[in-house]
Amino acid sequence: MNYSAFHKLSYGLYIIATEFEGEKVGYIANTAFQITAEPSKIALSCNKNNYSLMKILDSKKFSISVLKKEVDTSLIGKFGFMSSTDIDKFAGVETITAKTGAPIVIDSSVAWFDCQVLNSVDVGSHVLIIAEVVDGDVLSNAEALTYDYYHEKYKMRSPKNAPTYIDEDKLEDEPEPDVEEVKPAEVEEMEANGDGVYSCNICGYQYDPEEGDPANGIAPGTAFEDLPEDYACPLCTAGKDFFTKVE
Ligand code: FE
Repeated sequence: MNYSAFHKLSYGLYIIATEFEGEKVGYIANTAFQITAEPSKIALSCNKNNYSLMKILDSKKFSISVLKKEVDTSLIGKFGFMSSTDIDKFAGVETITAKTGAPIVIDSSVAWFDCQVLNSVDVGSHVLIIAEVVDGDVLSNAEALTYDYYHEKYKMRSPKNAPTYIDEDKLEDEPEPDVEEVKPAEVEEMEANGDGVYSCNICGYQYDPEEGDPANGIAPGTAFEDLPEDYACPLCTAGKDFFTKVE
């Protein structure tokens, strides 16, 4: 079995949110998919360790926000890599309230769905949730974010809770690209000096000095050591202290 075959399946990225007894919770999912047209039904696969799962099953409602390609990455950090038990993920995030009463995140979203839970199926590590779509809207014509784009841009693997997570040991080596990489002299020197790639301990984001972090004003060729002291991980907003050098 070549587990890398799973990487050829395509997905988007979504914020799933709900509210139960006054508490709003949410998480990032890549598995939300339409299963019937009339009436419209959607399914989710949600990890049993996910705090939001019980809230969805208790409230019997949730929203799906379809994220845009140029997503505010702090949303992915908050909703994808932190727990609602530790932080209020909705602080400073723009939401509207769905017909079902679920909060809908509209920051960085191109469309949303409001869903009423019909059924759930225990599938082992995850619970498959089947829901009827009771409302929905398009917020923008901007391109939607795909899992592939996110994976490539941020060099991320699926978090362990994701249904699409694959153990590193199970993956066969990816074929080497057949194009020789040419690095600027200053990057060669930087790497020779040991000023290399740093990884965020919280979410796994990798800071590569060759690429910098242009979206946050960090030019390509900036060594990790030269980042401003208040530099924060673009995915989970962790500070520089949470990064360790990748050996
Ligand atoms: Fe991070």
